[in-house]
Formats: sequence, C-alpha cells, structure tokens
Amino acid sequence: MAEWEEDWTPEPANVVPAATAPAPQTRQYRGRTFRGRGSSSYNDTNWRERGNNSGGDYRRNNDRDGGGGRRDYQQRDSGNKKVIYVPSHKVGRIIGKGGCKIKDIQYESEAKIKIGDSSGNEADITLMGSDTAISKAEDLINGLIEDYKPQSERREETHNASDSSGQSSDFFKTSEDGAQVIDWEKLNAYHTEHQQSRYEKLQPIVKDFYREDPEIAAMTPAEVTRWRQENFDIQVKRTFDEKPGLRPIPNPVLTFEQAFQDYPEILEEIYKQDFKQPSPIQSQAWPILLRGDDLIGIAQTGTGKTLAFLLPALIHIDGQTIPKEEREGPTVLIMAPTRELALQIDKEVSKYQYKGIKSVCLYGGGDRKEQIKVVAKGVDIVIATPGRLNDLVMARHLNIINFSYIVLDEADRMLDMGFEPQIRKSLFDVRPDRQTVMTSATWPPGVRRLAESYMKDPIQVNVGSLDLAAVHTVTQKIMFVEESEKEETLFEFLQNMEPTDKVIIFCGKKATATHITTELCLKGIECQSLHGDRDQIDREAALSEMVDGTVNILVATDVASRGIDIKDLTHVINLDFPRHIEEYVHRVGRTGRAGKTGISLTFISRNDWGNARELIKILSEANQEVPEELEQMATRFEAMKLRRDKERGEGTGRGRGGRGGGGGFGGRGRRDRW
Ligand code: AMP
Repeated sequence: MAEWEEDWTPEPANVVPAATAPAPQTRQYRGRTFRGRGSSSYNDTNWRERGNNSGGDYRRNNDRDGGGGRRDYQQRDSGNKKVIYVPSHKVGRIIGKGGCKIKDIQYESEAKIKIGDSSGNEADITLMGSDTAISKAEDLINGLIEDYKPQSERREETHNASDSSGQSSDFFKTSEDGAQVIDWEKLNAYHTEHQQSRYEKLQPIVKDFYREDPEIAAMTPAEVTRWRQENFDIQVKRTFDEKPGLRPIPNPVLTFEQAFQDYPEILEEIYKQDFKQPSPIQSQAWPILLRGDDLIGIAQTGTGKTLAFLLPALIHIDGQTIPKEEREGPTVLIMAPTRELALQIDKEVSKYQYKGIKSVCLYGGGDRKEQIKVVAKGVDIVIATPGRLNDLVMARHLNIINFSYIVLDEADRMLDMGFEPQIRKSLFDVRPDRQTVMTSATWPPGVRRLAESYMKDPIQVNVGSLDLAAVHTVTQKIMFVEESEKEETLFEFLQNMEPTDKVIIFCGKKATATHITTELCLKGIECQSLHGDRDQIDREAALSEMVDGTVNILVATDVASRGIDIKDLTHVINLDFPRHIEEYVHRVGRTGRAGKTGISLTFISRNDWGNARELIKILSEANQEVPEELEQMATRFEAMKLRRDKERGEGTGRGRGGRGGGGGFGGRGRRDRW
C-alpha cells in the first residue's frame, strides 16, 4: 500500500473549511508530517488544557475560558505519564467488549493504559509510556470518542475555531425538533468545491463496461414491460426528476451471458455456483451498474442483491486505468449495518475469484489489529460496518480517496440504527464522481435524503411491493396469550418440534433472550443465542451452528431479524411482538426463503394492541387468516385512542391527536436496544 498520510485533510467534524480556517497544525504521525487534526481540535479529551508539566495537580480549572463555556481540566503530565479525562459514559467505548479495544490501543500505541475511577460525569485515564506512545494512545482514544460528541459541543468548538472567518456556523441548521445539526448538504458542497483541485489530480473513473446484447437491444417496450410484470412485478424508474440528456433506462438481461459476455472469467465463477438464471434484481441491475449509473435497489435479502452489486464491482476494480496494485487505497466500499450482514457479504465476496481481487471485512468486535494489518497490506474491497469504518478512517488506517464504487447496503437499517453521522463522516472525503449503489428494504424519507445527498441521477429498481408486504411463502399464525403464559406455551411448542424443524425465537430484550436460552439449557434442549450482549466470536459461532445444523433453535433479538440467511429455517416464533411493524416483516421473512415455505407463530398479548391494525393489513395483504380477536383488539385500541384524544382535546382546548400510527402505546422508544 502506498504511503499516503500526507494527503489527509481535516475530517468533517472540523468544519472549518481549508480556505477560510487558520492553517491546520502540523504534527508528526508515524514519522511523517501530515496536516490534520491538531491538538486544539474538537474532541472530548481536549476539554482540558494540554502540556501542564507541573505534576501532581489534578485540580479542575473550570474558569479558564472566562467562566464556564468550555470545561478545562488540569492534568498531570510528568514525562512518561499523562492523565486525561473523558466523559464516564464513553469509557465503555474505550474498553470495548471483553477489553478488546483497550488491548488494541495498548498494542498499537505501546502505551500502558489505566482506567481510573469515575467521579460523576468524568473518568480519568492514565497513559504511561514514551511521549510518542502516550500521544498515539491519546489520539486513538480521541478517535474512539469523538463521534459521540453532542452536536452542541461540536458546534461550540467549531464556532470558536472559526471566529476569524465567521463562516463555519453557516454549516449548521436547526432540525425539525429544534436541535442544531450539521447541514451536510452545504458542508459537502463547500468541501467538494474546495477539494476540487485535489480531486482533479485523480485519474478519471472508468465506468462503462456494458455492451448490450443485440437480442436485448431488440426487445420492444411491450416485451420489457411484460418481462418486468412476470418477474415479481419489478418496477424501474428514475428516482428523481428526469433531466434532458439522461440515457433511457436499459432493458433487463435475461441470461448471465447477456450481461457478462465480455467477461468470461466472471461467467466461469457464476457457472461454479450452479445458478440457473439471473434473479429479477440482477437482470435489471447489471445493465445499469455495468454502464456506470447509480442504482437504488429496493430489495430484501434473499433476492440476490449482493451479487447484483458485487459482480459489476469486480469488473469496475479491474477496469480502472491505474492497475489495482498501484492504486492508493481500496477501490470498492460496501457498508452494511450489522456485523452479521457484513460477514455474510464477505462470505459471498469470497466465493468469486477474479483477477486476484482482495477484500477485507471491518466490523466492531472483530480483531481491530488484524483488520488494520490486512488493510495495510493492500485490499481492493472493504466491507465494513459504519462504526468500525469510521474508527479506522479517523485513525487514518484507511485511505478513502480512491473509493470509486460505493455500496450502502440496507441503508434503512443503517439509519434506524443511528449510523447516519458515521456514514456521512466516512463518505465526506470520497471523490464525488464515484459510482454509488444503495439497497434498502423500505423507502422512508431518511433514505431518500441520503440518496439525494450522495447519488447522481440514480435509477431505482423495486423488487416486490414497497408496502410492508410480508413474504407470501410464509403461513403467519397468531396466538393470543397472557405475558405470563408465553414461556410455557413456547416450551410446549418446542417439545413438539419435528427433528427436521429449525426455529428462530425472537425476543424483545437481550435479557429475555438470555433467560429463555438458560431455561432451555436447563431443560436439556440444545439451542444457541444471538444478541448484542454476546461477543462477536460467540455470535458468529451461534449463526454457523444454526446454519450447519449443530443446533436447530436460535434465540435472538432483532439483531438477527434482517439479512440473516439460514436457508432451511422452518419456523419463526415471535415471543415478543417487535417494537416496529417493519421488524415483523423482516423477522417473518427469515423463513419461507429460496422457494421453500415456512411458518411464523406470533404471540400477541394485550400489550400489543397498538400494533393490531398494522398487523391485520399485513396478514390480509398476504392472504392470511385474520383472527376475529385481532380485529376486536384493533377496534378497541382505536376507540381508546379516540377517547384519549377527545379527553386531551377537552383538557387543553386544542383537540389534537396522539402520536398516531399504532405506536403510541406500543412504546416507540429507542430502536436500537439490542
Ligand atoms: P442475497 O439476496 O444477496 O442475500 O442472496 C441470497 C442468496 O441467493 C445467496 O446465497 C446467493 O448465493 C443466492 N443467489 C444469488 N444469485 C442467485 C441466482 N441468480 N440464482 C440463485 N441463487 C442466487
């Protein structure tokens, strides 16, 4: 991998644009000089003053900034020992699961780190070792915690830093809920303008690799429409306005050869998989991607979407003018919301050998050190979860300047999990002329916004209905139970399982999943569990034991509801109804895959009445039986809502409704509590 540190420019949180900000500080990094985050930047450990060598004085110096805006702390920095302070709630991020993060930091920096006691809001961290080691460790810690800094603090610091120009406050706007947030549109546009000279030095991206087969070119519009209707009613359109000069949407290919006739080695790889024909999304996506257009695929896992974006990516890597060995940094980035999905994509990627293309999977909980080593050796494809990607980008282990083909997989899920800032930060410096692909199971406003920011005239391919249409190959059963009866009913069901049955049991909380797993073990029923409290290695083992049949019961939280591909899963049990109706669809969709049928069994208790109406819609759409009791539940809930709204209206004199949408009493709390 080429040396590239000196190419780094300030990252997005430091929103003072290069042209207007004071000259960035210069400092040594790995023995090289680079421009970048200076020690006066914007992270939590910089609350306190640096360079106090007097030793022994831990007194806080709250008044230093003229009475209380920013918090400054004195620290002891006695040659080979330095104490820094971080917010207590962020210490977990520095320690990592099972201490993996702190071990990484110690290994990388060669500093010794001691986490001290937390005194209320702050905890002290002692760094020991050589000056270089301490400074490296401090940088790494800053990198880990800065993402999580409240917007208000970032704003304050940026504002302070830009007083001379007075411009950076222009990059904030007031959100709908009144908070000050970064105006990414403006900031990206400004950044691109000021980075233009840098981008101009890069080789143009080669994007067009498609030669339309004469048979495909000869298809009439009526034939194309009929093919789309017959293939799951696939819909294809420009996402945003048609503009003059845009090429017409290409016809779908019907065979692998029609897509890859000029790439026999790709065809060989496909033949090895024994697939009969392209899946609908592949038929339509390959011509679009091979000719270099941006694509939005509204499709779920199981539709063949990974291969739809992967094969054009391989051709894209090989087709650039600079040979891949000589390129600075990797070419393709695939971002995925969860470790499981990232690993699943990685597995799919590793099935296709083409021109020695190498990939790496970067995910939190995996061996960070090892991941950094692989990146440093040189890779062409990076598959990453947003947190770890951002971590390595910020720590300057990953050069993103040459990413020219980017995939945001399951974008809706990434937004649900709160990854938008990490996505935006990671993409901030990526060249704007790249090709961008996005997949999403749904099309909410957040995903649309992301598409507007990062994509150029995308073509959208919708596979299946955009509504919450549960898979039609699953028989969806509903069972009414009291909360206290759930466990017993579940055990009864499991005792009557056939030896060939494979079941996922979805629980609402990690604690419930742990409890159920323990109870099953005590009863001698073998099972595995998958939730956010388990170490990555255990989560991977749980999945692979399910896939290879070592166990046939998996107890999980919603971390497993999307993207997990266990082909012969026969049953999905919703022990707890999910917080959001979308999640119901994703859970149910874990079974009934690859042409098979499946059964879902959903326990409904009186607490779930707020979801009854939405559930009825899904059941009806999929031609499932709708129990009378569910209808009654929905009607009772609506009547109660009306009554409450009326009472509230009378109380306040305004008469405005509740929160609507069936969520008001179902607890529309935080989504990502797995
Ligand atoms: P995905 O939707 O990418 O998660 O793919 C789900 C599964 O479908 C993966 O195991 C793929 O290997 C498989 N697959 C991809 N393309 C095809 C195809 N054209 N025919 C049959 N299976 C496929």
